[in-house]
Amino acid sequence: MKTIYLDNNATTQVAPEVVEAMLPYFTELYGNASSMHTFGGQIHGRIEVARAQVAELIGAEPDEIIFTGCGSESDNTALMSAVECNPAKRHVITTRVEHSAILNFCKHLAGKGYRVTYLPVDTLGRLNMDALLESIDDQTAVVSIMCANNETGVIFPIEEIGKMLRARGILFHVDAVQAAGKIPINLKELPVDMISLSGHKLHAPKGIGVLYVRKGTRFCPYLIGGHQERGRRAGTENVASIIGLGKACEMAKKEIAWGTAPLAALRDKLEAALLKSCPDAVVNGDRENRLPNTTSISFEYVEGEAILLRLNEYGICASSGSACTSGSLQPSHVLRAMGIPYTAVHGSVRFSLSSYNRQSEIDRVIEVLPPIIKELRSYSPFGRDKFEQYCRIDAARAD
Ligand code: PLP
Repeated sequence: MKTIYLDNNATTQVAPEVVEAMLPYFTELYGNASSMHTFGGQIHGRIEVARAQVAELIGAEPDEIIFTGCGSESDNTALMSAVECNPAKRHVITTRVEHSAILNFCKHLAGKGYRVTYLPVDTLGRLNMDALLESIDDQTAVVSIMCANNETGVIFPIEEIGKMLRARGILFHVDAVQAAGKIPINLKELPVDMISLSGHKLHAPKGIGVLYVRKGTRFCPYLIGGHQERGRRAGTENVASIIGLGKACEMAKKEIAWGTAPLAALRDKLEAALLKSCPDAVVNGDRENRLPNTTSISFEYVEGEAILLRLNEYGICASSGSACTSGSLQPSHVLRAMGIPYTAVHGSVRFSLSSYNRQSEIDRVIEVLPPIIKELRSYSPFGRDKFEQYCRIDAARAD
């Protein structure tokens, strides 16, 4: 059975061109970039080419790019550096809908006595700008806000926020892990101090990330050891993955220039067909302002996990808005922050496409999914009333 992969916000296929670019670094080009000899030294030059390719994707200068181990490391490093460089400031601002790489790091900071403000969003997942303005004070060390949400694809107004923060002299970090490679990012125009990226979200391998640090921004390294990355991130370079990321960024730049309208059209086709054929289905988040590849759809009165398991039987891969841990369903913190009713949060499914997806694959999902929803609703042990009751109990437990 052929896999229909619609879970590209979780991870992406490594592009064949990326694999090809990486292969020599596992075989004949295995030197250490820090070595004195020519064999190792040549690697240094290749890393710098990749650094320039990454910089080019986001409108940065190559020496503003630091290679890290993943998006989570970039996020942690940015926040750690921000607070370490400003020891007198003990307040951090973020949003309620960030990835756990930010939220759990903020929790860690709170445990060390930092004050953390979690900004609310509205029912469409849009940021409350007034709340941001009101939360800033002279103790604020950094504001960390994602560029695009991983569950709904909703894009935040980074330029507007950045201008506001720059006027107040406040450091601004952006988690652009989901946005990079999907929408244009031009740091020549965006007033942002630090940005996190992750290779495996844009057809490079897992285990490679980037932290962009604008020239002139004070920076404290997180990993301390050797002098790699000009003393900003210790550890022998993950050469093959760096080369692969460079190639993936070069390809993403071209793809964005060609336009993402065909990708958005495929996503819209899927969305429109499912809304039409499945009663009680709604799209979560601002449909006007979101990533071209993402849709989060709630099928009310069904469990998202049940939908995913049935889709899996057809080789169709997607994600749900709740995670099944230790027997209880943890509803998505993103959808909860948006005030989505529990009956809809539990039945949410995220489809995230890539340019590798084909029309025929979307047609297959459109054919297969509506009968699944109908069937699951028909033999739900709960029925609609019981499901609402179950969700009320769950809501009470979570609150
Ligand atoms: N930030 C966002 C918005 C993400 O979606 C993810 C991964 O899903 C991360 C950070 C973490 O990236 P990584 O998996 O490279 O650690």
